[in-house]
Amino acid sequence: MSGAVYVNGRICKKEEATVSVYDHGFLYGDGVFEGIRVYDGRIFKLEEHIARLYESAHHILLEVPLPPAAMKDAIIETVRASGLRDAYIRPVVSRGPGDLGLDPRRCRTATVVIIVDAVRLYPQEAYERGLRIVTATVRRPAPDTLNGRIKSLNYLNNVLARIEANQAGADEALMLTREGYVCECSADNVFLVTGGALWTPAAHLGLLRGITRDAVLLLAGEQGLAAEERVFTLHDLYTAGECFLTGTGAEVAPVVEVDGRRIGDGRPGPITHRLNAAFRELTRRTGTPVFTQGVVKDERG
Ligand code: PMP
Repeated sequence: MSGAVYVNGRICKKEEATVSVYDHGFLYGDGVFEGIRVYDGRIFKLEEHIARLYESAHHILLEVPLPPAAMKDAIIETVRASGLRDAYIRPVVSRGPGDLGLDPRRCRTATVVIIVDAVRLYPQEAYERGLRIVTATVRRPAPDTLNGRIKSLNYLNNVLARIEANQAGADEALMLTREGYVCECSADNVFLVTGGALWTPAAHLGLLRGITRDAVLLLAGEQGLAAEERVFTLHDLYTAGECFLTGTGAEVAPVVEVDGRRIGDGRPGPITHRLNAAFRELTRRTGTPVFTQGVVKDERG
C-alpha cells in the first residue's frame, strides 16, 4: 500500500477513508491538525507535534478521544501500514459529527484522522536559486481574534495569502500583523540574518510557533549564532543580509527576494546554508523509529 489513513481507530486505503459531511470540522473548520515528517523510517519530533496538537485542542476545548500515548501508537501504526519510509503525516482531530448549528455540544465524539502520504516539497531547484516571496494584503489575525498558536482547521486566512502569492507568481506569501510587523508566511515561519545574528518574529505576535523554528533556534545556539525572537518591520527584512523560511515541509529554505527587493546579494546566504545542512543532519540523526519498533512488537506477538 502506498499511503494509509486512520479514521477513528481503523486503518484503510486513502480511497476508502471518509468522514461525515455533518462533521463540524467540515462545516465550521472546528478542529485542529498537525503536519509531521518521516525521514527514512523515523518520525521527526513526534513528541513535540503531539504536544502541540493537544495544546491546540485544549485551547479550543476539544477533547481528543484518545490519550497522547495512544495517539502516538496510532500514528506509528499508520505510518507502518503505509509502507512509506519517507512521508508526510497529517493528524486531524475535528469536533465530530453534529447538526447544522455551530454549537459544539451537539457533537458527541471528536473525529480522529491520521493521513500518511507522500511528501510534497519545494523543488530542489528552489533551494539552489532561493525563493521569491511577496507580502500579502491580508493580515494575520490578532492573538485575541483567532490565535495563530492554535493549529486549527481555520486556514482560510493562510489560503487567501497563498492565493496572493500564486497571483504574483511568488513562492510564498509573507503576512504582517494588524500593526504592520512581520509575522510569518502562509505555511512557514520566517527568519532574517543581520550582522551575523538571527531574528525571527516573537511568538506573541499571533504566529504558529513552528517546530522547525524552535529546532533552528536551538541549532543556531549550538553553532554560536545569536538568535533572537523580536518585533520588526519589513524594512529590517528588506535590508537583511539573508532571509529564510522554516517549516515541516520547507525545512530551511532560502529567500532571495521579498516584494521585489533583493535580499543580500540575491543568492542563498552562507548562514542559511549552514543551518539547512545542520537541520537536515538533525532529521537523519533523530526521530522515532517506525519499522524497528514494529519488529520488536511483532516478535512479542
Ligand atoms: N506557520 C504556519 C501558518 C504553518 O502552517 C506552519 C506549518 N506548516 C508553520 C508556520 C511551520 O511550522 P512547523 O515548523 O511546525 O511545520
